[in-house]
Amino acid sequence: MNTKERKRIAILGSTGSIGTQALQVIAEHSDLYEAYVLTANNNVELLVEQARSFLPEAVVIANEEKYVQVRDALADLPIKVYAGADALCQIVQEKPVDIVLAAMVGYAGLRPTMNAIRAGKTIALANKETLVVAGELINRLADEYHADILPVDSEHSAIFQCLAGEVSPIEKIILTASGGPFRTLTLEQLAMVTKEQALKHPNWSMGAKITIDSASMMNKGFEVIEARWLFGVAPEQIQVVVHPQSIVHSAVQFADGAVKAQMGMPDMRLPIQYAFSYPLRLKSSFERLDLFRISELTFEQPDTHRFRNLSLAYEALRRGGNMPCILNAANEVTNRAFLEDRIGFLQMSDVIETVMQKAPFVASPTYEDYMQTDAEARRIATNCIA
Ligand code: NAD
Ligand code: MG
Repeated sequence: MNTKERKRIAILGSTGSIGTQALQVIAEHSDLYEAYVLTANNNVELLVEQARSFLPEAVVIANEEKYVQVRDALADLPIKVYAGADALCQIVQEKPVDIVLAAMVGYAGLRPTMNAIRAGKTIALANKETLVVAGELINRLADEYHADILPVDSEHSAIFQCLAGEVSPIEKIILTASGGPFRTLTLEQLAMVTKEQALKHPNWSMGAKITIDSASMMNKGFEVIEARWLFGVAPEQIQVVVHPQSIVHSAVQFADGAVKAQMGMPDMRLPIQYAFSYPLRLKSSFERLDLFRISELTFEQPDTHRFRNLSLAYEALRRGGNMPCILNAANEVTNRAFLEDRIGFLQMSDVIETVMQKAPFVASPTYEDYMQTDAEARRIATNCIA
């Protein structure tokens, strides 16, 4: 039993969009939470600034070339400094850590999250790619090591909040999607969009990778897969509904036809804070929802003809095995290529579909299979683009 007063939080990816907002939550509730570990990939300047202000036990910089820079910048403080991917995997297992906020981006989040689960830590999960790639394995590990996985993704937090107090099964999940910046564009227009346009999300300010995934609807496809593993529902029980105002964060329908939705202003600090404080709710300074100001909530069918990634994700989920891992790897490569102006917006789906056809299928993958699959799918995707 934890008799300490403050919960100690390790943030994987503290310099990112989720990481910095998590630190705002911790600062607002410094009587309850402590930033025990901060980590970043490359951003030395911000990591050092965060460490100076939050005084964690340790920091990890994933890029080993930056180790000396971080160490020297913090030399006057009693903060341990480590570097490298293995250090990330070890630090999450440290005994005093209560909660690991998995807020790294992409496949790189899988291994440290698995290690945190093996140490029985509570996982506040933002890194959806972990569940997309290896949802079944993650659930098995979480059962075995009695680790709780609490969703941070706003839609999944909404569903989780709707389930509080319920003991009856879910009939259907209504997963809302903003539709992104290109919701109303024709296919001809989509063929011409630039990364600058894609990076302007109408409702959320997020890291570049997830912002592109939102524009291409791959983010929603990933969230369908994430919901399948978090809530144990079949793909047919998950309905995506486009809701441009991003006020209804998602909803659950039960056997009697009742639908419970969670609403609020789009602000990731609320789901982050709920994952930290669950099952309690803490007072917050976040902007309150004023329905008169919103005045209109609208809902549309998603268009999988214009946004093919959504169908590709459903297909990957239905085929199972390593197919979602293939989907994720191909998407990471195409997402990066689009951000570097090496491929067009619509070509991303073409490449992903090709990789799903070409990469070897494994029905019951082990962790080693996932590593091989990830590498092989990236190779095929890279060749496809070249
Ligand atoms: P971001 O790009 O803003 O931040 C990513 C963080 O991870 C940074 O701190 C970076 O230093 C670190 N990082 C990146 N690659 C790494 C590596 N190889 N090794 C170690 N650290 C690495 O991303 P974000 O928007 O904060 O998203 C983080 C995760 O949360 C993603 O999986 C995303 O899908 C998910 N998520 C984000 C939001 C959001 O509002 N930003 C909402 C829902 C889910
Ligand atoms: Mg989301």
